[in-house]
Amino acid sequence: MKRKLNFYAGPSVLPEEVLHEMQKQLPDYMGEGFSLIEASHRGKVYDDVHNETVDLMRELLAVPENYKILFLGGGATLQFSMIPMNLMRQGKSADYIHSGAWAGKAIKDAQKIGQVNVLYDGKDNSYTSLPEAAGVKPSADSAYLHITSNETIGGLQWKEWPETGEVPLVADMSSDILSRPIPVEKFGLIYAGAQKNLGPAGSTIVIIRDDIWQNSPDSLTAYLSYKTHAEKNSLYNTPPVFPIWGINLVLKWVKKMGGAAEMEKRSRKKSEILYQTIDESEGLYRCPVDPKYRSTMNVVFRLRDEELEKKFLAEADGHGMLGLKGHRSVGGCRASIYNSLPVEAVERLAEFMKNFAKKHYMV
Ligand code: PMP
Repeated sequence: MKRKLNFYAGPSVLPEEVLHEMQKQLPDYMGEGFSLIEASHRGKVYDDVHNETVDLMRELLAVPENYKILFLGGGATLQFSMIPMNLMRQGKSADYIHSGAWAGKAIKDAQKIGQVNVLYDGKDNSYTSLPEAAGVKPSADSAYLHITSNETIGGLQWKEWPETGEVPLVADMSSDILSRPIPVEKFGLIYAGAQKNLGPAGSTIVIIRDDIWQNSPDSLTAYLSYKTHAEKNSLYNTPPVFPIWGINLVLKWVKKMGGAAEMEKRSRKKSEILYQTIDESEGLYRCPVDPKYRSTMNVVFRLRDEELEKKFLAEADGHGMLGLKGHRSVGGCRASIYNSLPVEAVERLAEFMKNFAKKHYMV
């Protein structure tokens, strides 16, 4: 089978060897005589996979011991509610940075739960830039400060982290987790849906500092409380076993490749190839994002007009390149180039872009 070049924004490409391993082990997991997805989540076979996945995550992101690593359901979207429910104490407000579509959704949900201070709103620059990290300071009565480390739709990414002192820094890392080393100790809580850099859709990873989950209000129902999941190692209820298995295999692949530092090198290289192609096209392609904050994961670009964009997407499809259409809310084009996408796929896209430009722009 010839695999297509997969630039989908999520669910997205997985390492081919992970897919083969899953296929091989699917009916008979490690000679146990049953599939891992038929196994009880209370049995040893699953338990070993579960704990190994937590350990791998801890190792690859250098997560300190005073943080729990949770695997939950409900997508990153559920975290938009759980964070304010668990962290906003009576009478306190929370700070949010409005950097685009995903931050906007997080803000909208938080506003239903408590008072939100929007410290920065990128509306005036159409969400193509970010505030200087050093200038971001929490407000006096803030329970936490929320950022979106990578805006998947807008294609912009924080390169440095705000210093928030006693106020926990909370980050939605759905679309760039494990694409670079991160100083976890600067954060109170990090969350990410699995379906971009970590594995198949269906599980959300939450990395949460002990004092934070320990303070979850008792008034919350079981599932909505971080305390429930932290105390039970994400086994209070049935965890999403299939995606967690996938994450396990992807993490082993990342480790074998050289870990977060190597992922960062690859991501830089891949994104530079595309941004260079865009910038050297003399305006034939345009990236609207402030060069300081261009994402290494989601490269967004426009062509001269929508007609040409349609043509570009149709031709790309004909070349076996999937998922290059920009998000329906903004249009244009977007190449999502997550960890599992080989450098070669990006080189082929760049080549295609150059040829397309020659064919359609030059007279
Ligand atoms: N945050 C970001 C940055 C995302 O990219 C997404 C999904 N694309 C979400 C949150 C929502 O994630 P989910 O669909 O897993 O709820």
